[in-house]
Amino acid sequence: MSPLQAQELHTLPTLMNQAAQAAIATLQALPERPAAVRPQSVPRQPLAAQGLGLAAALADFEQRYAPGFAASAGPRYLGFVTGGATPAALAGDWLASAWDQNPTSGLDSSAPDLERECIAWLAALFGLGPEWSGSFVTGATMSNFVGLALGREWLSRELGGSAAQQGLCDLPPLRILSGAPHSSIHKAAAMLGLGRSAVQAVPQLPGREAVNPAALAAALQAGPAIVVANAGTVNSVDFDDLQALAALRTQQPFWLHVDAAFGAFAALLPEHAPKLAGLNQADSICVDLHKWLNVPYDAAVQFTRRQDLQTAVFQNQAAYLGDLGEQPDFVHLTPENSRRLRALPAWFALQAYGREGAAAVVRQCVELAQALGRWIEGGSTWRLLAPVRLNVVCFTPADLPAGAAGRARIEALVTALRDRGEVFLTPTLFNGHWGLRAAFSNWRTQPADLLRLQDELARVSAI
Ligand SMILES: *Cc1c(COP(=O)(O)O)cnc(C)c1O
Repeated sequence: MSPLQAQELHTLPTLMNQAAQAAIATLQALPERPAAVRPQSVPRQPLAAQGLGLAAALADFEQRYAPGFAASAGPRYLGFVTGGATPAALAGDWLASAWDQNPTSGLDSSAPDLERECIAWLAALFGLGPEWSGSFVTGATMSNFVGLALGREWLSRELGGSAAQQGLCDLPPLRILSGAPHSSIHKAAAMLGLGRSAVQAVPQLPGREAVNPAALAAALQAGPAIVVANAGTVNSVDFDDLQALAALRTQQPFWLHVDAAFGAFAALLPEHAPKLAGLNQADSICVDLHKWLNVPYDAAVQFTRRQDLQTAVFQNQAAYLGDLGEQPDFVHLTPENSRRLRALPAWFALQAYGREGAAAVVRQCVELAQALGRWIEGGSTWRLLAPVRLNVVCFTPADLPAGAAGRARIEALVTALRDRGEVFLTPTLFNGHWGLRAAFSNWRTQPADLLRLQDELARVSAI
C-alpha cells in the first residue's frame, strides 16, 4: 500500500466519521435542496499522481460536484419512478461495501444464504409460494433480461432446439407478444439476439394500456411465443388480467413473463392486491427494489419457477466452482459472475421495517397520487390523461395545443419546474397526448410536499 493509504488505515475511524457526517448532512438537507438541477459541465481535472487523501478528495467532491447533483432521493423528485433510501436500507448498503462479499459461490462464506433468505421474504411479500426462486440483479431491465432469457430457452426447446446450447441460427424467429411493453423489453430482446423486431404489439383494451386477452389469443394462434404481461405500466399504471392470460395456456403453450417492476407493490394494499391475481401462475417475474422498496440504487429481483432453465442459460462451470448440485450457487443463475451482496440493503429494510413498513410507504404514495388527481379534476387548468390507478398521475394543461406546439409547451413546463427547483416531473406521451407525469414512490413524500407541488403548478400554468 502507498504511504498515504497506510496513514489512512491508522486514522480510519476519523476519516470514516467525516464521510458519514457528509452523508448525514446530505440526507438532512435533501428536502430543501433543489429537486433537480440544470446540468452544467464540471471542468475536468487531471488524474492526481500522488493523490489528495480522502479528506481533501471529499472536500473536492463537495465543492465541484455535489452542487450539481439532484435531490432525486428527496420527497419532491417525482420524475420517472424514483425511490429514496430508508435508514436501514442505507445502512445495509454501507455494510455491503464494508464487508465487500462476493456471494457468487458458497465456498467461502454464508453470504449467499442471506441473499436466499431475502429472496424468500420478497416472494412472501408478493404472495409467491415456495416453488419460486430468484436472484438479485441491478434493476428491472436486467430482471426482464433474465426472464426473457429463460423464456427464450423454453421457447427454443418447444421448437426442438436449445438457444443456450446451439444458439438461434437453426430456429424460426422467436416472438415476444405484449400489450404495452416497457422500453427495456426491446433492449433485452436486442441483447438476447432475438432482435427488437421480435417484440410484437398486441392490441390493448379500449381506452386502456392493458392487453386485450382475445387479441392475444388470436396472436398466439401462430404458434408458441414469449408473452410479456404488464403489472403496472409506467404511464397509467394499468394491469393486464393475469388470470385471463394464464388461462390461455390451455389453448396454446407460452412463456408468461410479468413485468411488475413497481406494480408488484400493489400486493401490499388489500384494496389493490386483486390487480395482481394470477401473478403466481407466471413463469418469470420482474420486480424493482430501488423504486418502491426505497433501497438505494441498484437493486431488483428476478423470480422464476424454472430454475432448471436458469442454470441451463447462466451456468458458469469451472472445476474450482464445484458442481451445480441441489442448490446451485448464484454464479450459475445470474448474468454476472462476481457481484456485490446487493441483497443486503433490502434485507436490512425488510428486517428493520417488515411488511407493514413497506406497506406504509406504498399506501402513503397512493394516497398522495389520488389527492393530486382529485385536485386536478377539481380545477379547470389541468386535466387528467388517465385515471389515477395507483401512484402515477398523468396530466396536461386543459388548453394544450395538439402536435409539436403541445410538445414544446410540455418541455417548457418541465424545464421551468426543474429550474425553479421545488419539484421535478418528467414529460410523457400518452394516447397521442403530450403531458406531465408525477410518480410518487419516495418514503419521505408528505402531504406538505403535495401542497408545494400544487403551488408550483399554479405558478407555471401560464407558460
Ligand atoms: C422502471 C421500469 C423498468 C426498468 O427498470 P430499471 O430499474 O430502470 O432497469 C422496467 N419496467 C417497468 C414497468 C418499469 O417501471
